[in-house]
Amino acid sequence: MARKIGSRYTVHQVIGRGSAGTVWLGEGPDGPVAVKLLREDLASDQVLVGRFVQERAALTGLDHPRVVGVHDMVVDGDDLALVMELVHGSDLRSRLEREGVLAPQAAVSVIADVADGLAAAHAAGIVHRDVKPENVMLDLAEPPGPGGAPRAKLTDFGIARLVDAPRRTRATRIIGTPDYLAPEIIEGLEPRAAVDIYALATVLYELLAGFTPFGGGHTGAVLRRHVTESVPPVPGLPDGLWRIIAECLAKAPASRLRAAELADRLREQLPALAGLPPLVLPAQGRPPVEEVPTPGEAVYAEADTGTGAHRRRRGPAVPLVPAPAPDSTRDTHTSLRRPSAQELAAYAAESRAQRAAPASAHRRGRRALVRRRRMLAVLLAVVLLLAGAAAAYTAFAADPANGSGGPAPAATSYRPVPTPPASH
Ligand code: ADP
Ligand code: MG
Repeated sequence: MARKIGSRYTVHQVIGRGSAGTVWLGEGPDGPVAVKLLREDLASDQVLVGRFVQERAALTGLDHPRVVGVHDMVVDGDDLALVMELVHGSDLRSRLEREGVLAPQAAVSVIADVADGLAAAHAAGIVHRDVKPENVMLDLAEPPGPGGAPRAKLTDFGIARLVDAPRRTRATRIIGTPDYLAPEIIEGLEPRAAVDIYALATVLYELLAGFTPFGGGHTGAVLRRHVTESVPPVPGLPDGLWRIIAECLAKAPASRLRAAELADRLREQLPALAGLPPLVLPAQGRPPVEEVPTPGEAVYAEADTGTGAHRRRRGPAVPLVPAPAPDSTRDTHTSLRRPSAQELAAYAAESRAQRAAPASAHRRGRRALVRRRRMLAVLLAVVLLLAGAAAAYTAFAADPANGSGGPAPAATSYRPVPTPPASH
């Protein structure tokens, strides 16, 4: 069903749903476009519409190959729409869920692309504020980068800021996604460019390890870890790469790399990472730790409106904006259980050995052993059952009281059946 958006665009079909609205495939004067129609409650908010119009020039002016371009912003009756460049591909979250962690070279290439996009935005005075895998699009129409990695583009620029009017933000409501929040945001400082670097380093960590450094459990606990805990090391990661990640996850914003520096430093690592397989870490696929909120953390519970109903997405999420209906909120809290520092250290050697040897040989061997044991147990059970049935039948047929030879009520036909000798 076609629908007109303003005088220049027509949308045909939904291609995605997010926390701020629905994304449609559409057509504009210059060809196909993606149109994000903001949720009704956002579109009817006059303050927001005002900000939307104010931001138009900044957002549509951000033109960079590593940024999903915003062609137009349309305010039309009840509709508030962002007309975007159409990307042929998927977002990085879907890629992670489908195929698991990335090989180090591919992960670094994707993040270097995003850092390029951020560098352009920061130079134009725009802070993204919601860098996370959901907001990175992989463009499959472009020729791949180093190691066959898809080229990446950052999307949803300024949307967090746009919908984050002061009156929407109660003291207990934090805007953003807990796993990627820089400590200074949690402490109430004005978000500057360095918050995007922190979030992007968190995404890189997640692409490599399969979990975020501070995620897992109650939202309050996640926020506290950002502020107080040091970054748990990723076992088996080359030192040079680890130093970059650690620098960008510094608690002090001023200590983090700038976006352009980050892109350069990451690209310097690419040759050394060629051919390295994805890391195999113990926490992948494990359930999260249940953490009981302390009274101090309970204050954040107000912000937890995520339903937690999504497949691998566990734990509460702080939505980008307040959401009235559960299905319009995307639960973006994604981390799996975060292993303790001791666990990570203990598994470091194992992880290295797995990467040195053919990675899956060990797991294949264990799986085969378990299969063999299961088959033996089933066979034994079948033999015992058959022997029991044969003995029961013999006793039953030989009983003279059972004239017909057919089945009789259990109470009259039952005879204790001798247990067959156990055969091992
Ligand atoms: P939100 O930020 O409101 O949560 P998203 O921007 O993540 O929503 O959009 C939801 C989905 O729509 C994305 O996962 C993606 O599949 C699709 N999508 C978003 N923008 C584009 C685009 N420019 N081109 C193609 N698909 C897009
Ligand atoms: Mg988004």
